Amino acid sequence: MGWTELKEAVLAAGGCRIEGTLPDYAVATSTAGPGAGGSGAVFFSVDGRRVRLAIAEGGRATLIPRPDGAARLRCGELELEGRIEPVGLHCPRQAFITVSESCRYRCRYCPVPLQEGRRKSVEECVALVDGVRDRVDAIALTSGVAESIEEEEEYVCRVVRALRDFGLPIGVSIFPTPETPQRLHELGVAEVKFNLEAATPAIFAAHCPDLPFDRVLEALAASVPLFGRGHVFSNVIVGLGETGRELEACIDRLVGMGVVPVLRPLNPVAGCGEYARPDSALLDRAARHLRTRLGEAGLDGGEALTMCAACTGCDLAPWRDL
Ligand code: SF4
Repeated sequence: MGWTELKEAVLAAGGCRIEGTLPDYAVATSTAGPGAGGSGAVFFSVDGRRVRLAIAEGGRATLIPRPDGAARLRCGELELEGRIEPVGLHCPRQAFITVSESCRYRCRYCPVPLQEGRRKSVEECVALVDGVRDRVDAIALTSGVAESIEEEEEYVCRVVRALRDFGLPIGVSIFPTPETPQRLHELGVAEVKFNLEAATPAIFAAHCPDLPFDRVLEALAASVPLFGRGHVFSNVIVGLGETGRELEACIDRLVGMGVVPVLRPLNPVAGCGEYARPDSALLDRAARHLRTRLGEAGLDGGEALTMCAACTGCDLAPWRDL
């Protein structure tokens, strides 16, 4: 029994119970991503492989921490000894900032619009990175859409300008305008992630009725020549009702463009509260298909410097977990 089976089981389980006292540095809170607004998370790692554990009292997985940072993770019959990783901002080794913690759109799977949070000032973003500078290798920015897609892009570009002095690779994941890839590239951004989210245009339209699917595809296509193969990413949620064949076709399409898909297990929250969490067999099949296609295309997600492909806490990432 090894890492892959345990991570698959934990991702399918969703939540993790903590039996004992966590070290002070351990708990991360999130204002974006699958755990936005939740009760915090812990990162457990074994030999450089990592899983994000959403803390939940009734969770099927159990983490038993010890005072020295060692810990045992158990899910059903599976268990491994590892370590609890310190977080930078949101995740280990990165200062991952959600610039605007609100969104005028209402994508059904996303909890960010429900938070109605505020926008961080440029100075706040600089201070946040400064506070964790000694324990991060990268900066990542994401954002809801506070006013408009264009206005948000403009604001995030201001934040990027202010953060360049840290000399760290910067990754940006926002909803793109047609000019976003070029603008971010000119600012020296290292990597971008524009999220397709759904495997098909029809599923996207059903969950994000006000956003254009094709805009994301166009931005991804425009980004590959600018940022390079292996440095452009797109989240695809697994479990929104797509068939296995549809998911594979989406993976094939993205990889064919030179984009690295990040296969994100659905977290049934917000308007998707009634959906089932994808099971471990489904996650395993999708990740193995992705591994094959990446290999054929000569693409390596392991080259990622920033954001989810570098973190891999929430996903079964073939370049690290298989
Ligand atoms: S995989 Fe992405 S969303 Fe998940 S903890 Fe890491 S950076 Fe955050």
